[in-house]
Amino acid sequence: MTSFMGKVLCADLSTGACEAKQIPPEVYEALLAGKGLAAWYLYNNIPAGADPLGPENILAFAAGALCGTGAFLSGRWTVACKSPLTGGWGDANCGGLFAPAIKQCGYDAIFVSGVSEKPVYLFCDGKSAELRDASEYWGHDAVETEKTLHEALDGVCRKKPCVACIGPAGEKLSLIAGICNEGGRIAARSGVGAVMGSKRLKAVVLAGSRPMPCADPDRVRALSKELGQKLLKLTIPSGLGVFIGAGGRMMGRLPSIPLDGSLTSIMFREWGTPANTPLAITSGDGPIKNWGGTPQDARLMDLAYSPEQINRIETAKYHCYSCPLGCGGRLNIRGRKYAGYDETHKPEYETIEAFGPLLLNWSMDSIFQLNEMLNRAGMDTISAGNTVAWAIECYENGVLTVRQTEGLALNWGNTEAILELVRKMIAREGFGDALADGVKRASERFGGKEYAMHVGGQEPGMHDARNDPQLGVHFAAEPAPGKHTVGMSIQYGAMSLCDVCSWAPPARLHLKAEDLEDTEEMALISKANACYSMLTDGAGGCYYGEMMGVHMWKLVDYLNAAEGWEHDGDHYMEIGERIQTLRQLFNVKQGVDPASVRLPKRMLGEPPLNAGPLKGVTLGSHRAQVSAHWRAFGWDEKTGVPLPETVARLGIDKLTEAAP
Ligand code: SF4
Repeated sequence: MTSFMGKVLCADLSTGACEAKQIPPEVYEALLAGKGLAAWYLYNNIPAGADPLGPENILAFAAGALCGTGAFLSGRWTVACKSPLTGGWGDANCGGLFAPAIKQCGYDAIFVSGVSEKPVYLFCDGKSAELRDASEYWGHDAVETEKTLHEALDGVCRKKPCVACIGPAGEKLSLIAGICNEGGRIAARSGVGAVMGSKRLKAVVLAGSRPMPCADPDRVRALSKELGQKLLKLTIPSGLGVFIGAGGRMMGRLPSIPLDGSLTSIMFREWGTPANTPLAITSGDGPIKNWGGTPQDARLMDLAYSPEQINRIETAKYHCYSCPLGCGGRLNIRGRKYAGYDETHKPEYETIEAFGPLLLNWSMDSIFQLNEMLNRAGMDTISAGNTVAWAIECYENGVLTVRQTEGLALNWGNTEAILELVRKMIAREGFGDALADGVKRASERFGGKEYAMHVGGQEPGMHDARNDPQLGVHFAAEPAPGKHTVGMSIQYGAMSLCDVCSWAPPARLHLKAEDLEDTEEMALISKANACYSMLTDGAGGCYYGEMMGVHMWKLVDYLNAAEGWEHDGDHYMEIGERIQTLRQLFNVKQGVDPASVRLPKRMLGEPPLNAGPLKGVTLGSHRAQVSAHWRAFGWDEKTGVPLPETVARLGIDKLTEAAP
């Protein structure tokens, strides 16, 4: 026995057919589930040149291998497709309860193809699957949709169903739309919500209750107990959050980027990802003023965005499935300025950064409101914030006139104008309509390309490559460019990967200046980061489990226990390498030229900043590092195309022959 269900559900919205397909065991052995299974299916079944918003595109919802085994931090799900934002591989990741719901219906993944004539939702209760009319839900926001579907199915299903749905952004084909579950948790990146909207698929509703298998549940439980006990021993004095900004200020002056995985996990348990905001503002990690500012521009903003302030209005902690940390939370925002809602999910760091320092917006209250507005609409806060930042800089520099912005005075920090612009983007109204497809399209239409921060069409996550050049390599070399979750120096330092992988270099203090040098060791580090990240996604693991390090969150031991295997770390890292190579092959098949994906000049330090922790930094060897990263993967160092011998070594040629 393994943890896999052994089959997937394929729904064709053009014909209405829903059928189960068996997956050969060798696919799971080679790629696990989650992102690996999605990469295999999509690579084989989406034809070259498919229109991302057409019937040939396939939308995958996939649970990871460890989901349902009792492994901690294993409840994340992947959604993947051909991205309408980049034209290549697209994926997003989310927590909540949707991953186990997929497996409880008897599947490892759900693949949706075709286009429906009218709005539908896919319903599955583990016995049968069917498409149902969703006309009455079309036009509803994500929270309303989930609520009304729950009400409609109350008493009809044996258990409360899990719902993943789109809001108005996905319905209106905004290319920065995501897919929501759990009242506003969102798989946000790559424009996955636009693909769901293009299929007229309002929701996927799952109400199965099948058992989820595991080879050795006692061993998995023992591993989770060990981790739980370690976490219990870690505490952090309450009230300390106000000093995080001072810590970041100190980090900004240090020549290295130190971080301890255990410390990160308890910071996230105490404050959630907002713990990172003050540190990012003061250390140089978080972008300020559309990536062109310095901490001086956002002076004392670290106090305005203190995580302690947010904790004061937290009413409940939020845990994804099988997670002992619970980095999420619900907030009571009733009566606060701008509040159009009574409560909201706690905004993530990425959202606070994208609508705070990036726009020089000092109002935390407005961010609570923007967070709820964007979650309900199902729009990516990272992409939306970067796009608003571009609009403000264009306005400030005369590229956009007040006539074009329809009277909005888009000055830095104009909270009311920011709120109104986001409302227009969600509604695709007037000037907002032009911004609803992200910053690349907006700058192609209005100009100001020099202010448009995107990598290969996708807006980057809120971490600055000038602070961590390793991250810059991943922003550019990752098959879904601009994603911040694939690798950072800081992450590598915390993970101790060399203790499970023979070729991963030892963790060391990464001297920022040294990171600017092109070395084979740095390439192995970026490769190891990417492979472990893909492995984690194949397992359905959480990024913050990864950050705890291999001696806390024992992924290799978890997988061996769950699958009844006895593989070593090298074997598992090769699975990660295979997933990453397959995603890159997807891009090549779809006509994406990896060598054309470039960081914006500003992020390369051209021109360099004249103050702050990143003063004078220019990433002169960035392209050489990208080439070295490709070389380490066995991809052509000039083009980024996986070499035939690499494809053969990883057995990808044989795997694709086994495709349905
Ligand atoms: S750490 Fe946070 S994001 Fe990760 S599984 Fe737990 S609650 Fe979800």
